[in-house]
Amino acid sequence: MAISFFKPKTDDEQVEDRPIIDLREVNKYYKTAVGDYHALEGVDLQINAGEFVSIIGKSGSGKTTLLNMITGIDRPTTGEVWVNGTGVHKLNENQMARWRGKNLGIVFQFFQLLPMISVIENIMLPMDFCRTYPINERRQRALDLLELVELADHAHKLPTALSGGQQQRVAIARALANDPPVIIADEPTGNLDSKTAESVFALFNDLVAKGKTIIIVTHDSGLAKRTHRTALIADGEIVNEYVAKVMPTLNPSQLLQATKTAKNLTYEAGAMILAEGTNADTFYIVSKGTVEVILPRPNQSDVIALQLGPGKCFGEMEFFHEKKHRASIRASEAGPVEVLAIGYDQLSELLKQSEATQEALRQMANKHSGENLSWRGVSS
Ligand code: ADP
Ligand code: MG
Repeated sequence: MAISFFKPKTDDEQVEDRPIIDLREVNKYYKTAVGDYHALEGVDLQINAGEFVSIIGKSGSGKTTLLNMITGIDRPTTGEVWVNGTGVHKLNENQMARWRGKNLGIVFQFFQLLPMISVIENIMLPMDFCRTYPINERRQRALDLLELVELADHAHKLPTALSGGQQQRVAIARALANDPPVIIADEPTGNLDSKTAESVFALFNDLVAKGKTIIIVTHDSGLAKRTHRTALIADGEIVNEYVAKVMPTLNPSQLLQATKTAKNLTYEAGAMILAEGTNADTFYIVSKGTVEVILPRPNQSDVIALQLGPGKCFGEMEFFHEKKHRASIRASEAGPVEVLAIGYDQLSELLKQSEATQEALRQMANKHSGENLSWRGVSS
């Protein structure tokens, strides 16, 4: 296909780990007749270039509000929103429209194609608005995009002559018109049957493979599981993804409670986090970097028994068994480590609310306990 598309990522961009989307302490209040409504509360969200991220949460939890902060359709009351290096919260209306046209492709649940003009004209519209491509190239580019979504035969029809799934694919082609690095889609499959939804999802997957960054809001947890990362939002706050990973059987409000009680701690490379033999009072979840579990062995040198990366936890063994650390834990030499720390009292409170989570953690503790003994050369 003779289409200028998807600038290949250079090695430099790949090693540089700067997020393409960076929300910092975003708060959004809506003014209502009964006072201010706090729709987003202290939202921090970082998404790297090339990631496929799903946002899930109950109806009314703030998903659309969050997307509107990223697209600049609405503004945060406080906080910062950086997209592809631009402070979106600082743009005025004029700057916003042009910036958005070049940087973001937006896909809506109800397609929102203009009904009075043909499919191909719908796709040319953003190119005409942003003038990213010379006027004599726009029609061919629109056709190439229609080819990409397998609808070139329908170029000259009105949108209403197409099925829902076809209209959504046209909407995706339109979102790609100016070759934006980021695609934002609010329940793009919410109005489609499951087979059609699948084909739209497959198209997103292809685009991610070609280097696009994609964020979708979805109600479909099956689809969400197939993205690189899922952000769960509850009552306008983002649940920590590692908390959700370690305790998947907590419900959204319990996950939020766990997120809020967790303290974020940072350790330098090689720093000791816990010493063997000391009293245990905290459950830890690794959120960045790698920690090493070091076991002392009788008459032998210490051994690094395990390395735990993001989404792994420690301290659950001591919570269920003896309340003394049976291993030392240190940050690996490879780089700094961040952990989320939840005190045992707070962990007890959480586990009282969810028997399934209590059981899952207990089983993990028993498994680790067995491994611990075998590493020490003690038969259990
Ligand atoms: P979701 O997309 O997760 O269903 P929304 O972001 O649309 O949720 O809405 C989050 C909350 O903010 C809801 O309680 C909704 O009623 C409220 N809300 C959304 N938009 C407005 C608005 N313009 N004015 C007042 N309240 C709003
Ligand atoms: Mg919504």
